[in-house]
Amino acid sequence: MYTLEQLVNYAKTYGYIYQGSEIYGGLANTYDYGPLGALLKNNIKAAWKKVFCNDEDNVMLDSSILLNPLVWKASGHLDNFSDPLIECKACNQRFRADKIISDFDPTVNTDQMNFLAMEDYIASHHLHCPACGKNNFEHIRSFNMMFQTTQGVVKESGNEIFLRPETAQGIFINFKNILRTTRKKIPFGVCQYGKAFRNEITPGNFIFRTREFEQMELEFFCAPGSEVQWFNYYREKMVNFLINLGIKKTNIQVYDHPKEGLAHYSNATTDLEFNFPWGFDELWGIASRRDFDLNAHAKASGTELNYLDPESNEKYVPYVVEPSLGVERLLLSLLFNGLEDYIVDNEVRTVLHLHPFLAPYKATILPLSKKELGPTAKKIYHSLQELYEVAYDDAGSIGKRYRRSDAIGTPLAITIDFETLNDKCVTVRYRDDMSQKRVKISQLKKIIGALVKL
Ligand code: ATP
Repeated sequence: MYTLEQLVNYAKTYGYIYQGSEIYGGLANTYDYGPLGALLKNNIKAAWKKVFCNDEDNVMLDSSILLNPLVWKASGHLDNFSDPLIECKACNQRFRADKIISDFDPTVNTDQMNFLAMEDYIASHHLHCPACGKNNFEHIRSFNMMFQTTQGVVKESGNEIFLRPETAQGIFINFKNILRTTRKKIPFGVCQYGKAFRNEITPGNFIFRTREFEQMELEFFCAPGSEVQWFNYYREKMVNFLINLGIKKTNIQVYDHPKEGLAHYSNATTDLEFNFPWGFDELWGIASRRDFDLNAHAKASGTELNYLDPESNEKYVPYVVEPSLGVERLLLSLLFNGLEDYIVDNEVRTVLHLHPFLAPYKATILPLSKKELGPTAKKIYHSLQELYEVAYDDAGSIGKRYRRSDAIGTPLAITIDFETLNDKCVTVRYRDDMSQKRVKISQLKKIIGALVKL
């Protein structure tokens, strides 16, 4: 597997991910997604939508980033969406106290520790500042991670507003609207992807933890009593989704949170962890949240958020199962999982093994001669481009062009040679095993279509 440093270099070199605000010296922990990264992100969201929305008869939502601040009061984010912040007196750097402890001993369950217990643990185990190595900390305090800004032209109190730290609340507050307009029956789910913002104390590990990121969340509404069945159903579906996308089984670990560490409203929480170079770490979480969120919003807004079962005539507040995944965390996992360097003829051949559905380009069109074969190659390119993202490359030796195509994860290389003008055939070369076959131009769309099936 690539090291973090190798992967950052790769992402920058090929146009997957750039440092944010680079020409101004950067802005720490912000990233821009280049031509390939933008396509990959879109394909990740499309894959998730296909499997978790379309396949399931669930529905989509696109709610605002800015919500009435009362939403965050009711959801508990204003009071509780905070991390334990600890500051080093020597170098003034700030850290998450729970992370300092779990980095030292991953078996310690910090969810069950209050600030005093964490301070005691850090002192008694002589844990040092990760930046300067000294052992001289301030008391731990609570740090709310919501980004605050002001709405409107006048900066006065009462105008404070927050950037959403998760997409989920937009779904809960639209529950009644969705029910009314779609006439869905329980059980059903609402899917949403979009930006979320968290003022993380210690962002890092490249795009693993940033302050601006994208989430793909599903709130699945079901009848009380059926939530365990649905939790297990989605937990398994999530693992299968990752494996189907090509993530190796050995790179996935399923961590079921112990009952004692769960939030008071939750009766099950599981993290799917990926094998990052720094160890297994959270990729995707699923939580059974009972009726906590709908009840909280019903109480605070005065709007009933319940469901009338048309068959039993019974009225109830639905229970919720919530799988929540970060787009960038999945993207990072896919890069670590898929990148391989092979030595061929004393040269490094880099290959990104990506599922064709996800690959930014499905094929690269390669004319052997720019001049004589260009027009035919361009025709093929434009015809394929109607259905799929394809690339065109006529610069450099064919070996170099193959290597570039493999390195960015393109599953097919389509070579147009002089025979093509007579036999209307091209050579198709497969990225993963480098096998080649000669096929009719008229078959290309079908071949790509079969390959990108999810
Ligand atoms: P962590 O423990 O890593 O801070 P969390 O348990 O707070 O994550 P959730 O609130 O469950 O995360 O968010 C759901 C998903 O959103 C996570 O599994 C992750 O994929 C993604 N995510 C959360 N925070 C970030 C972040 N700061 N940067 C990138 N992705 C994030």
